[in-house]
Amino acid sequence: MSKEMLFQEALSNFKSMTYTRQWNSDHKSVYVIQHDNIKPNPYLEDNILYTKENKVLIKINPAWMTRQISELANKHGDYFFRITSLRPLNPDNNPDGFEKRALLYLKDKKSEKYYTEIAKDKYNFLGSLKVKSSCISCHEEQEYKLNDVIGGLRVSIPIQSYLENVDEIKNKSNILYGITILIAFIIGFITFYFLKIINKRQEIIQKLNQNLESKVKERTKKLELTSKKLKASNAKLIKISTIDYLTKISNRRYFFELGDKLFKLSKRHNTYFCIIAIDIDFFKKVNDHYGHNIGDEVLKFISFTIQNTIRDTDVFARIGGEEFAIILKDTNINGAKELAEKIRFNIDLHPYITSTLKIHCTISLGIVSMNKEDKSLSTLLDKADVALYQAKEAGRNTYRIFQK
Ligand code: GH3
Ligand code: MG
Ligand code: MG
Repeated sequence: MSKEMLFQEALSNFKSMTYTRQWNSDHKSVYVIQHDNIKPNPYLEDNILYTKENKVLIKINPAWMTRQISELANKHGDYFFRITSLRPLNPDNNPDGFEKRALLYLKDKKSEKYYTEIAKDKYNFLGSLKVKSSCISCHEEQEYKLNDVIGGLRVSIPIQSYLENVDEIKNKSNILYGITILIAFIIGFITFYFLKIINKRQEIIQKLNQNLESKVKERTKKLELTSKKLKASNAKLIKISTIDYLTKISNRRYFFELGDKLFKLSKRHNTYFCIIAIDIDFFKKVNDHYGHNIGDEVLKFISFTIQNTIRDTDVFARIGGEEFAIILKDTNINGAKELAEKIRFNIDLHPYITSTLKIHCTISLGIVSMNKEDKSLSTLLDKADVALYQAKEAGRNTYRIFQK
């Protein structure tokens, strides 16, 4: 911007000098009264005139005028004007380095009117000057032609203040750069700091999540284990509550629980349903003779033998001390009778034998078949007991069928 301003300043000086020269040229030069500070232009014809009153007039043509004004300006240190040419008449107008470069440039590039350079302490400007008719009279020998660009008018402007401006701008720019860098650094630092915080938080959240996950897994494992244990202990409980501790066959509770359901089902579907009640004969004697422990072993042996004689689908349970009962589904009285005899026979045939003992036991059996009047399993079992009592009465080791 400062450069553009320098150019405009030089250009307006150039133009005003050009107009002044034009004015002078239009008047075919002017005459001024001679005084101490003015000398005639030695390259001009008729450079001195005498008036009738014998006054001396000095001719001032555009070139001589330019020189005068230029000297004046130079004296005040404001601007520097100089008229110059590649082929000057006055050797004082020989171009210096800048002027020569400018004139050669303008000669080469005819469309250009100005040439500028920035020197150490001044802004140099040179504008082309076209040959005017007033020039030709003096420069006849040099064969100047009208409108030729032979020379130029140089304008130089001291640029101390411009340089100061530039320096100031540079300084301010540097400060601005510094501030920008500082702000960028601060923003960068803040961003970095926040990113670090966010990162750290994410790490913490991730760790917490991992912890939580592992804890959940651990708890789930524990829960699974507990539920497994619970299931096992439940199964154990169910087993305990349904299995007889000594013989490991179903107990009385299970017999009635399942038996009731089967009884109702059979009643609804009107299918066969029989019960065989079993009691070991004279078992008290076994205990009395061999002791309670051996009695237990015999009990286990007899229940084992019965279990092996019946089908898996038959419900076999120990319903009292040495009393058993069997539920036979879908079995008529003949089938029940056959099974009762088979069981009786097997017990009679297989005594309990150890290395030192051989204990022979028999059993008595009561059979009952469900009919329409029977209301519950319990009353049906009572009827089987009645038949069992009859078998005992009949001398034991036999079965009896309940009759109305
Ligand atoms: P019967 O039935 O032929 O009339 O004679 P019983 O001797 O078998 O009849 P009773 O009812 O007098 O005796 C049953 C015996 O069964 C009495 C009891 O000591 C024995 N008993 C009952 N439960 C068990 C048991 O779990 N273990 C042992 N070892 N004996 C038992
Ligand atoms: Mg008994
Ligand atoms: Mg008995």
